[in-house]
Order: sequence, then structure tokens, then C-alpha cells
Amino acid sequence: MSTTLAATPAKLSDGTWGARVSALGLKIGTKVTITTRAGKTWDAQIDRIVSEKDGVTTVATRKLSTASTYTPAPRYTPSTHSNTCDECGRGGATRTAYDSSGLEGRVCNGCARESSHTLSFA
Ligand SMILES: [Zn+2]
Repeated sequence: MSTTLAATPAKLSDGTWGARVSALGLKIGTKVTITTRAGKTWDAQIDRIVSEKDGVTTVATRKLSTASTYTPAPRYTPSTHSNTCDECGRGGATRTAYDSSGLEGRVCNGCARESSHTLSFA
């Protein structure tokens, strides 16, 4: 069976986290997709049946090794207060300069020596 069952996280009596599935007769090794109230989901595999009650099975789960951990891409937030040179991208920008189109930028001493015609902050 390749269908995955919807599950919600459940704290087990031994303090570890498992899942609650609204189904009975589950088998060890069955895949479940756990969704938290916050909307985070991950795939897990049933490791152990903990209890079956009122149509709900509580299971101990194991995170699937194939499930990729979601790592958000590092956000690039250019800061106007940083000392990054607008021209060469290196730190140490202490000078204000204007490029060929009149845009204001922060540049390092090295780039400040360049004529405004070679600078481009756009
Ligand atoms: Zn520079």
C-alpha cells in the first residue's frame, strides 16, 4: 500500500513524540504524514502501535530517512546600515559616492578613488 495516512503529533506516555491516526488496524511500517496545528508536515513510518481507542490509533513513529529536512534558504537582506561597499561588495565602506546615473551609494576608500563614471550602484 503506497497511500500515506494523515496523522497529528501526539505525546506518548514515555515522553517521546508519536502520532495519532484516525484509523484502526494499522501496521508497523505504514507511512503517515504528520501535520501539526501550525501546518508543518513531515512523513514518518509507524514504529510501534501504542494504543487503539475510539477509532484512533496512537503510534510511535520514526522519521523517514528519505524525508528531506526543510531548510529555508538564507534570506538576503541588504542593510542600508551595513558597511558593505556598493561597488565592490567588500566591507569597510565609509565614503558616500555617486555613480554615473547619480545614484547615491556607500563605497570603500578604494572605490571612492574611482571616477563616478566607473561606479554603478543600480
Ligand atoms: Zn569598494
